[in-house]
Amino acid sequence: MINEKNVKLGEVRSGIRELFEYGKLRKSQIGEEDVYDFSLCHPSVPPPERVTLTLQKLLAERDPVELHGYTSAQGDLYTRQAICGYVNKTFGAGVSPDLVYMTCGAAASLTITLNAICNSGDEVLTFAPFFPEYTVFADHAGAKLVPVATKEGSFRIDFDNLERAIKPETKAVIINSPNNPSGVVYSEEEIKKLCATLAECGKKYGTEIYLISDEPYRELVYDDIKVPYIMNYYDKSIVCYSYSKSLSLPGDRIGYIAVNPAMTGCKKVYSAICGAGRALGYVCAPSLLQKLVAEAQGVTSDISVYKSNRDLLCSALTEFGYDVVKPEGAFYLFVKAMEADANAFAERAKKYELLIVPGDSFGVKGYVRISYCVSPEMIKRSLPSFKALAESYKK
Ligand code: PLP
Repeated sequence: MINEKNVKLGEVRSGIRELFEYGKLRKSQIGEEDVYDFSLCHPSVPPPERVTLTLQKLLAERDPVELHGYTSAQGDLYTRQAICGYVNKTFGAGVSPDLVYMTCGAAASLTITLNAICNSGDEVLTFAPFFPEYTVFADHAGAKLVPVATKEGSFRIDFDNLERAIKPETKAVIINSPNNPSGVVYSEEEIKKLCATLAECGKKYGTEIYLISDEPYRELVYDDIKVPYIMNYYDKSIVCYSYSKSLSLPGDRIGYIAVNPAMTGCKKVYSAICGAGRALGYVCAPSLLQKLVAEAQGVTSDISVYKSNRDLLCSALTEFGYDVVKPEGAFYLFVKAMEADANAFAERAKKYELLIVPGDSFGVKGYVRISYCVSPEMIKRSLPSFKALAESYKK
């Protein structure tokens, strides 16, 4: 008998995947232009020119055997040094290359980190709404993901709920700011309060509570919003970074884990990360991509189109009567469904050729996620459908 748990995991298609397949079918029936697919989560803007030029240069000038060869299990020292140089100059965190581990994106960073720190029976808290794969990652690490409800409508941290959720079993808290799907960015004040709460509860129970910052959207913020760097606020912190969105490279799979040097026992935690990476087969992240990101520190795709898409959608949807909270970052709107059942609402939206994702899988009922990493032209074409969908509820 093979592993039935994994069979089940592999057989269940995610709701987003289902919608994508439905969209493909519908486009073949009525034409590409007339289906409005807001289910996606991959960048609609190309990688920055610097990325393309660097790749060309690497391919043209470097020894191909070395370029495509194995790197150290934890990644090229040169790349890890370049990352530390940028992070330390920008955030003053004092990270050192021997605490950085190169990965295949944020998903791998999170899986490795949870496997490194969790033991069977541990609990990992996260704020709802949250990236649905956290449940799978925590489960694989032998832990249980415990969603903590945020404030209704604003999705900001509810500290009473957080305090109630922390128990002696709590091993870690995952934050994702800017957040997928709400677009919320935690302010410095919220981060300070969060860190103080974790420190107090850890003291009360005599436990170590790690703070894991999942950061694929760090640079995708609008209107001069600042994303506090977690290492400057909490010693037991680990950053899980990805270049999937910041450099528009989701299919190339590159990111890293950085352990806070201020953490007592940081070297041991890093060893556990190296060990978990080894056990999971996540060693030697893609070599070419490692060499690329070393030369692209501080570079970000042109995110101006995301901002204008956000502004266009927010004002149109508000005018049509939707309950919209303007996101501060990432490229998603989390909008209240016009009926209690978000699945029924998303199903009705399909009649208007709108593909939007029910929020239930993100741990919040009654909302839908609308991804605005799409072309501005598609948004403009879709607006009559959003209007008609809203009007169908007024009849
Ligand atoms: N975390 C969040 C919040 C995400 O939205 C995603 C991808 O959309 C990931 C992690 C995984 O990112 P990556 O492509 O870097 O593995």
